[in-house]
Amino acid sequence: MKNIIVGGGIAGISIAFELLKRKEEIIIIDKKTNTASEVAGGIINPIVFRRTTKSWRIDEMLPKAINFYKQLEVLIHQQLISPITIRRFFSSEQESDTWVKKQKKEGFKDYLAELTEEDSLFSEVKNEFGSGRVKNAYWINTKKLIEETHAFLKKENIYKNESFEYNDLDVNKKKYKNIPFNRIFFCEGHQVKKNPFFNQLPISWTKGQLLTIRSQNLYNKTLLNRKCFVLPREKDVFLLGATYEWNATNYKTTIEAESELLEKFNYISDEKPEIICQEAGIRPTTPDRRPFIGCHPTHKNLLIFNGLGAKGYLIAPLLSKELIESILENKTLSSETSIHRKVKH
Ligand SMILES: Cc1cc2nc3c(=O)[nH]c(=O)nc-3n(C[C@H](O)[C@H](O)[C@H](O)COP(=O)(O)OP(=O)(O)OC[C@H]3O[C@@H](n4cnc5c(N)ncnc54)[C@H](O)[C@@H]3O)c2cc1C
Repeated sequence: MKNIIVGGGIAGISIAFELLKRKEEIIIIDKKTNTASEVAGGIINPIVFRRTTKSWRIDEMLPKAINFYKQLEVLIHQQLISPITIRRFFSSEQESDTWVKKQKKEGFKDYLAELTEEDSLFSEVKNEFGSGRVKNAYWINTKKLIEETHAFLKKENIYKNESFEYNDLDVNKKKYKNIPFNRIFFCEGHQVKKNPFFNQLPISWTKGQLLTIRSQNLYNKTLLNRKCFVLPREKDVFLLGATYEWNATNYKTTIEAESELLEKFNYISDEKPEIICQEAGIRPTTPDRRPFIGCHPTHKNLLIFNGLGAKGYLIAPLLSKELIESILENKTLSSETSIHRKVKH
């Protein structure tokens, strides 16, 4: 066996498909517990709203992500990616002014729709400072992607639903249990803490919680963003998210997060929605918001692909390609994501 991939979230899946494309032999070992990729909202948003800036390397990341999910759709015969419009409600006049300044700028034109009268008067939602629409945003059906991709990989006999036991790894003999390997890609998400080879990396737990709600009076067509996001899922059913809880220690859903989300929802609607379910997951985050990608300093055949943070679905496709190209084609990896970079804690 040539490549072992530990973890079957979006990190492990994107590594797997880059390798399969190059006809490399793989096996994925995934215990499938507390998988952030299953809980994630699946929103691909090219804009960071706080300062109306573009998301990191968006012009390269976005086309690769779209292409990746479309290819995956063909392979597993499921629809996974859909375009969405995101409507951002401005939090101040200054934010609206910044939008107007940037909407015509080269580099932003593809992502910020020019403000119209309808945007400023949009009346479906409380709207003090007007709103703007983000173009070229997408939604990934994360639950379907994880479930159906695993089913496909199982059918191909390259997915084992079990825990990877670090004690059973003999790096010198290149054997894991009775499996000989060339390389191991560690893609464990926040559970990397248990990995003796990479647990010194400053990857922390940022817990996120989401509510699935039913609401009769909400606008059903676009994703709404104001302090929280409200993503239409099916008729009258929406995903409401997400919280950010730093240095979390567990996966439990909490009443505090429920209250926080409902309070934020109140900025969008006065309605008290029916709660259908609440979910929690852990984002693997880094102090400088850049992932950790590369090989172990001593054991060059042990690799890490982690720290995907809050945007795993956007960044995993391109970064997994870059990691595989660095190994198979000797291309240089960016120093921005190096495991040796200095990061302030
Ligand atoms: C509430 C919430 C909302 C989010 N919304 C978005 C969003 O809208 N858009 C977006 O792009 N991103 C979003 N994210 C972020 C996204 O979920 C993460 O960036 C991404 O899922 C991380 O993927 P991963 O594969 O690294 O980790 P995970 O998805 O956690 O996968 C790791 C896998 O490794 C397995 N594993 C770990 N250790 C072992 C072991 N020893 N043996 C075997 N298997 C093991 C785990 O069981 C798991 O299946 C959100 C996250 C949360 C929590």
